[in-house]
Amino acid sequence: MRKYLIAGNWKMNLDRAASVQLADALAALYPAAGETEIAVCPPSVYLDAVRQAVRGSGVKLGAQNMYHLGPGAFTGELCSDMLLDIGCRYVILGHSERRSLMGETDAMVNEKTHAALAAGLIPIVCVGESLEQREAGQTGDVVRSQFEHSLAGLDESQMAGLVIAYEPVWAIGTGKVATPEQAEEVHADLRNLLATRYNSGLAEQVQILYGGSVKSDNASELLSQANVDGALVGGASLKADSFQGIIQAASQIAVN
Ligand code: PEP
Repeated sequence: MRKYLIAGNWKMNLDRAASVQLADALAALYPAAGETEIAVCPPSVYLDAVRQAVRGSGVKLGAQNMYHLGPGAFTGELCSDMLLDIGCRYVILGHSERRSLMGETDAMVNEKTHAALAAGLIPIVCVGESLEQREAGQTGDVVRSQFEHSLAGLDESQMAGLVIAYEPVWAIGTGKVATPEQAEEVHADLRNLLATRYNSGLAEQVQILYGGSVKSDNASELLSQANVDGALVGGASLKADSFQGIIQAASQIAVN
């Protein structure tokens, strides 16, 4: 039985004090690990402060990116050893903002995914189509291609150690959310790919998150879809009460 994972991507938001305040609030709400897995991914400079706030609680730590090599002469980058050292369990890879603004390709995401898995981090690998691609009827092809190339060369046990996030680019930070049916169609497609490329046992194991304007008031219907195993949350993860609402929606579905 797959557990829900609700992961907050704080992006380049909050300062140190606000990060700690939010982390403290979440740690108080979730003092121990529960049925729903919870993670926060603060800006890298606040990872240590947030780690101290959530240490021992049910809230796990994630980074928003990493470099595939290192340690060494890679100015401005962070490597897997550093993320582990600072207490990270997860690392988001291939977020559409990194793909579109920082020029990350599937090949780069693939290198990072291999490196993260080799180090023992759990990569949350993002895929998703743009509005133009969706309107041109290319959603399935785009997502399949990102899956094939970003996750190339992984064996079954590596694949079992990662999380996939389907994030339609047109729904990220726009307030436009995919309908539950749109999300489920792509999630089911991804799970079929896992079953075809690997096997149905593995396909049943891998968590596939939805991301794109998830809020407490739309979380229930998205998370009720058979193949939606959680959410990668941007804006609504910046406030404890809205993030809590999403976690509660997941937990309620899990107990019913
Ligand atoms: C994200 O950045 O991964 C995201 C889903 O953002 P938002 O929830 O704000 O759309």
